[in-house]
Amino acid sequence: MSEIIDLTLSELRKILDRKELSSKEVTRAYLDRIQETDGKIRSYITVTEKDALAQAERADKRISRGETSALTGIPLGIKDVICTRGIKTTCGSRMLENFRPPFNAHVMERLLSQDAVMLGKLNMDEFAMGSSTENSAFFQTRNPWDLERIPGGSSGGSAASVGARLCCASLGSDTGGSIRQPASHCGVVGMKPTYGRVSRFGLVAFASSLDQIGPLARSVKDCAVLLEAISGHDSRDSTCLPASVPAYSEACIEGLQDFTIGVPEEYFVEGLDPEVEKAVRSGIEALESMGARIERISLPHTEYAVAVYYIIATAEASSNLSRYDGVKYGFRAKEYSNLMEMYKNTRAQGFGPEVKRRIMLGTYCLSAGYYDAFYKKASQVRTLIIQDFKKAFEKCDAVAAPVAPTTAFRLGEKVDDPVQMYLSDIFTIPVNLAGIPGISVPCGFDSKGLPVGLQIMAGHLQEEKLFRAAFSLETALNLQIQWPEL
Ligand code: GLN
Repeated sequence: MSEIIDLTLSELRKILDRKELSSKEVTRAYLDRIQETDGKIRSYITVTEKDALAQAERADKRISRGETSALTGIPLGIKDVICTRGIKTTCGSRMLENFRPPFNAHVMERLLSQDAVMLGKLNMDEFAMGSSTENSAFFQTRNPWDLERIPGGSSGGSAASVGARLCCASLGSDTGGSIRQPASHCGVVGMKPTYGRVSRFGLVAFASSLDQIGPLARSVKDCAVLLEAISGHDSRDSTCLPASVPAYSEACIEGLQDFTIGVPEEYFVEGLDPEVEKAVRSGIEALESMGARIERISLPHTEYAVAVYYIIATAEASSNLSRYDGVKYGFRAKEYSNLMEMYKNTRAQGFGPEVKRRIMLGTYCLSAGYYDAFYKKASQVRTLIIQDFKKAFEKCDAVAAPVAPTTAFRLGEKVDDPVQMYLSDIFTIPVNLAGIPGISVPCGFDSKGLPVGLQIMAGHLQEEKLFRAAFSLETALNLQIQWPEL
């Protein structure tokens, strides 16, 4: 059994198609593993065993008819911010603890149309606000490499479940780093697509101008396969791009001749752990060994990114989360004597402290008299950050940098210091503000044995370049897939 759960998506595809194993056997192996091991990691909020086995059976029929697609019969985990029809979608919040969406997100429709198997829904920071998954209203997810440490966040369940081999691959969402940062901390590959590449229909909104769904997997190619499956136009999300979807897996080719990679000096500053820097620099050397030309560049407005993000993201969140008022769906307080009190009690009891902090901050930024000083100013600086990247991509094909300033920190280490927590996203946030794609690829370990990720960024809709660089890095480093002991 241990062999089944060790297989990458691409390996599993071949084995299923050759009928050496059935999807039902593979699904059963994962369900058993979840039963045995997820008590230590706690990546799943909901395990959908019955549905998973039924999906696997459908997939096996399809395979026997020779009608396979890339994901047919592959067991996946889904972040609990993505709507699944009739299956609890909690967003890690008491507010949606018992919410069963009457519809599927666009990405779920895509996965199910290929007869992919959903094993269950994965833990996360409440409404995707956080960097450690400690803001989940339900329980703490642990890092498979060290159970006393955080898995990163907000897609902590999505990263830990892939790292602990509790699913073959997963989907997460990334508003300021929530796919790339946990991927880096859990030693897996995680990718945020170009804004608009994947439909947000059925993704519970946090900050609508930044949110994007993306894959987490064991290899670059597996991410490419998953992205290809979920990308493309959807008229129900007006920001979803009509651009055609290239065969991303075919972009995973080795070699970076005629390829320039920029290394921004603003990402190698004080606060970057020297061991992280060492691993990242060795990754950059590996890119060079594949033929890339390495060039020092500057992204001069990087230092403003965290401040800009925490104005724009909280402002959009305060507006998006106003819908949770106890009227139509979700939690409603039991005690109240009039309508206003019902709203107040519902929101006071339904939201956790971090969500409340952000709603207050965002509402303040948007209030009359403050809008120009905060939201408008932040939007102007956002434009400067966008221009920084545009200039960089005039001379570079991709940019390489760290994902996070440190490896996974200890549980509880930053919970009482929100600003420290916010600063852990300093290297991932600019990508969201600019709307460009970014990927985290494992590039080594620190002296405590914790994984380090290297981030590669590319221009708007340049996912193919991103995958080419990431695949070349993975090949050059040849880090044998390593698994944490559990
Ligand atoms: N950690 C960042 C935040 O707390 C990013 C979260 C995300 O990407 N969803 O907002």
